[in-house]
Amino acid sequence: MLVYIHVPFCRKRCAYCAFYSSALHNRPVPSGYLPGLHRELAWWSTHVADLVPEPSDQRVTSIFLGGGTPSLLEPADVGCLLDALARNFSLAENVEVTLEANPDSLHTKERALDFRRAGINRLSLGVQSLEKEELRIMGRIHGPEEVRQACEAIHAAGFCSFNMDLIWGLPEQSLNGWLSVLQRACRLGPDHISAYSLTLEEGTPLAEAVVRGRLELPSEEVTTAMFLEGHALLAAEGFSHYEISNYARQGHVCRHNMGYWQQQDYLGLGPGAVSTLKDVRFAQPEDYSLWLEHMEQGAILPETEVLPPSTKTEELVMLSLRTARGLSLSSYSQACGRDFLEENRSLVQALLRDGLAVLVRQDTEGDGNTDKKSLRNSGSMHFTLTPEGMLVSNDIISRLFADMGAGK
Ligand code: SF4
Repeated sequence: MLVYIHVPFCRKRCAYCAFYSSALHNRPVPSGYLPGLHRELAWWSTHVADLVPEPSDQRVTSIFLGGGTPSLLEPADVGCLLDALARNFSLAENVEVTLEANPDSLHTKERALDFRRAGINRLSLGVQSLEKEELRIMGRIHGPEEVRQACEAIHAAGFCSFNMDLIWGLPEQSLNGWLSVLQRACRLGPDHISAYSLTLEEGTPLAEAVVRGRLELPSEEVTTAMFLEGHALLAAEGFSHYEISNYARQGHVCRHNMGYWQQQDYLGLGPGAVSTLKDVRFAQPEDYSLWLEHMEQGAILPETEVLPPSTKTEELVMLSLRTARGLSLSSYSQACGRDFLEENRSLVQALLRDGLAVLVRQDTEGDGNTDKKSLRNSGSMHFTLTPEGMLVSNDIISRLFADMGAGK
């Protein structure tokens, strides 16, 4: 089981962001937040067994503090939370414990070391760009110098794994500009890079500026080159591509995110957090005051939805096709009793013909060794999108869903 803790506070809202968080400016994290989290955690510790009866599935293999800006918390408070998790749940011996951080709240070696001592072993740094002007357009409150200082602090503290988040396809960004950011980012020594294409979220100041013509996005031709050439640059730097937006050096794949893509159970704590345990999904309100009121009144059980088998199957397809490993054809037939290739025959043939997908045999779990096979010999095969296919994955997945819907 995975545990996610949502920290819905940031110093200031960024211009592109649609995640649930509130700007604190110079105020501290509200005093009710941590006691509320401890109450929620204690409640789940006594109820998880009813929902996930297998003890082996209740074992926590990854804890992820995400947000928002979890590095605004004090390291000692993070340590108390992790101790409470260890008291209330069975943690795997080598549990991955990730903290999302922004450069402005992780700028000294002492602070990084305090988080390391509190039990964090994986650090995920929200860098987004190394260009001053791009950071300004995004409304980030750090500059390239703060990134450099944070990277130094992270290396000095000795985390087991270090991820850097970057964004490409920004307004006014050129292909060479993006490749230069990526090259310089590699020199800062991360073991993992998440390179996200910019999504313009309706209602954000950045989307507004683009709609009003104050900023211009790069063309589709340029963004396609950004993805494919970025992919080649990272491969040359020793990173392997294991998910649409994620690249890792050997041994540094993010266990937490892989768990989501493999449909493992996850428990989400905090305002706006979502949990999925077996076939049931729970969602806490995206409203700090309402969440706190529920925690203080002991009304912990969030809104509940039982997932129909068709949703689980669609999620299997959607999440698997995000990964370089792709969709296991046998997992698909186990999930819904249907043959994926038969059901989507004409679309699959078109995708294979156009080089947007391949059929591959995976030798062992996740090692990526592959042999191309014919359409007919598909017993234990995986259907996998190529990098070119990943670029249009949303379109491919909607067309697959339409075929799957017609075949039900
Ligand atoms: S720091 Fe992260 S979560 Fe907070 S507003 Fe910026 S992008 Fe969103």
